[in-house]
This record gives sequence, C-alpha cells and structure tokens, in this order.
Amino acid sequence: MAKHKRTMGKEKKQRRIPVDSCIRCGTCCMKGGPILHEEDKEILLARHIGYEYLVTIRKGELALNPVNDRLEPVQQELIKIAGKEDGWSCFFYDEKEASCGIYENRPLECRLLKCWAPSELIAVIGKNTIVRADIINKSDPIISIIETHEQECPCGEVENLILNLSQGRNKSKSLARLSELVSKDIAVRSYAISELELKKEFEPFIFGRPLHRILSDRGLSVRTANDPIGKTS
Ligand code: SF4
Repeated sequence: MAKHKRTMGKEKKQRRIPVDSCIRCGTCCMKGGPILHEEDKEILLARHIGYEYLVTIRKGELALNPVNDRLEPVQQELIKIAGKEDGWSCFFYDEKEASCGIYENRPLECRLLKCWAPSELIAVIGKNTIVRADIINKSDPIISIIETHEQECPCGEVENLILNLSQGRNKSKSLARLSELVSKDIAVRSYAISELELKKEFEPFIFGRPLHRILSDRGLSVRTANDPIGKTS
C-alpha cells in the first residue's frame, strides 16, 4: 500500500493563462530593482533618481543572476535601484496601486522587460553597466575613500572566508579575519560620515551594503566591533 494517497480520478489541470502584455502583477518589480546601464546616465544626471535610491553591489558580492535565477558572485561592480527597507522589492514600486513611481523615467532594464518575451532584456544583461565612478564628480574626495574601502574590505575575501567556514576550514582564523573586516568596514563608513559629511542615506550607494548585513544574511552575526562573530540561531 502506498503511503501517500494519489488522486485516481480526473486530475484538475492547472490552467495557464497566456500572457502577451503586462498585466501589472508586479512580480518583476518585487523581485528587485533594475541594474543601471550607460543608457540610464541621463535620468541619473537629471536627478530623476537620486543617490539615496541606489545601492552598489560590490565586486565579488553575491547577487541574483536573472538569467539562471541563481545567486552568484558578481564579476564587476554594479549599481542597482535600492529595495524597500530590508527587502529587495524595488523602492519605486507601489504595491497598492500596482504602479511604478518613476514610470516616465524608468531605467533601461524596466523598459525592456517583458516577462512573456524576455529576450530583449537578456540581451543587455551585464552589458554597458555603470560603476560608482561614472556618476560621481571626479574631484569628489569620496572617490579615494571608496578605493581605500575596496582595498581594505574586499567582498571577494569575505565570500572566501564564508566558504571556509561552511566547509569547516581554518575556522578561528576565518572568524577573526571576518571580525577585522567588519570593524574596518564600519570605521571607513564612520569616517566618511563624520569627516566628509557623507549623507547617511547615500551610504548604500557609496559603500554598498554593510559587511555585517551581508554576514547576517548568511547566518553570521557580529555583536560588536571587537567581539567574535557567531552563528545566528
Ligand atoms: S523602476 Fe519602476 S518599473 Fe522598474 S522595477 Fe522599479 S517600480 Fe518596477
């Protein structure tokens, strides 16, 4: 006798509604805001989208690859429209109205996205994407702080250390180094805010997501700068 009951009669067939135009279900906007390309510089420079609505995905950081739907380390820095609060749902998506708050000035990927025919979007993924230096004034002293941050707190090293921990290799060394990197990350951000008067709301664009947030998403927590890193329960 089989353990689980099976339907022996007529199975209800799932009805698939053919879609050949946008039905404003919001799925694409709730999966996350778009990555920005050269073609989006105009709307950025015209300040239709300010720095406070952007987040940088740093080289080596894990991000969802929309082509294969898998989390993978990014090969180069990317700029993305930020999510709401702690999630990735696009900041500009209005769930109540099922609408885009910047529709007239929405970025390239949003204009190309047709979930029923994704080839146009797929063709631009990873091509002509912009980096922070493309949209920051070249004489701004924050540029050199960004370079220092990249050298001192590289995301690629963080991912390697997380991998070591998941494989039980060099556990205490890896934890100590992660704690050191988190402290440095906090120190660079604090310096930029206090000494260069960086606006707090620009921080996710200028330095990407804080390392302690990245670690927390991976089940690791940091109590204070000097405390060891532990597993979140
Ligand atoms: S910018 Fe507008 S269209 Fe693009 S993901 Fe955000 S809400 Fe959706």
